[in-house]
Amino acid sequence: MSITIFKRSEDLIHHVNEEKKKGCSIGFVPTMGALHQGHISLIEASAIQCDVTVCSIFVNPTQFNDKKDLETYPRNLCSDIKVLMDSSCDILFAPDVHEIYPHESGFVPSPELSWAGKVMEAAHRPGHYDGVMQVVYRLLDIVKPDVLFMGQKDYQQQLIIRQMIAAYEIKTKLVMVPTEREADGMALSSRNVKLDEESRIKATILSKTLHDIKSQLPHEDVNSLQEKGINQIADKGLEVEYLQVADQNTLKPLSKVHKGEKVVICVAARAGDVRLIDNVLYPD
Ligand code: AMP
Repeated sequence: MSITIFKRSEDLIHHVNEEKKKGCSIGFVPTMGALHQGHISLIEASAIQCDVTVCSIFVNPTQFNDKKDLETYPRNLCSDIKVLMDSSCDILFAPDVHEIYPHESGFVPSPELSWAGKVMEAAHRPGHYDGVMQVVYRLLDIVKPDVLFMGQKDYQQQLIIRQMIAAYEIKTKLVMVPTEREADGMALSSRNVKLDEESRIKATILSKTLHDIKSQLPHEDVNSLQEKGINQIADKGLEVEYLQVADQNTLKPLSKVHKGEKVVICVAARAGDVRLIDNVLYPD
């Protein structure tokens, strides 16, 4: 399939407006590239629900709290374009930094985020979600999609963007797409290519631990489940940043799970230099 590529927002806006005039609905999948099947699952979900699918590739500097992570983030636009040509993507938006941030300091949304803005990724990556909200707000302003597709893989991110969309009354619906996994359960991630063979094998303990905990819920003492899980991951040589059983809507940590309660179990850990995150929902 062919795709149309835009580097300038002005050109993209013009093209998308023409599609809208024809009555087409617009689906949008923002990414940082190094595309894999997880990204493609969002594109395919968009193609099913919308007439035109726009994917963006932009490694957003403002969301990296770790400079080294930004420098080593995998980038390969040529192979990404080939991947997109085999997908249902219609339009690629691949802007430069000055296109997204034409002014020194762009607008940073600051919605009321409650627990979601304080725990887990927010606590361990200071400023990260300010950068994520900044870039998604800007991209939504350019693309003005009917539907935004985001992955469950970054559960807290989609929750925060959902809250931002509501707070700023943005006319875009957010759809969360389930996490794509390897056959051994490992969640697909652009950062997986940075893992050496041994760390890659060891890292499967993350999804295994999440599923072990899930299989034991509801449980009287969630703290003991979390502790057991942290030890299980540490035994494989990974450094756990957090392992948290939390409420799906607020991300408030739970010490007890009641029947019927909607829960997300989230983990972040380092395998050497590589930081990995994953989560599962309970119940399914
Ligand atoms: P990224 O390029 O890492 O910023 O991710 C772009 C989008 O793809 C985000 O909405 C992610 O949540 C989503 N995504 C990343 N990995 C996966 C995966 N394994 N399954 C589903 N969606 C994913």
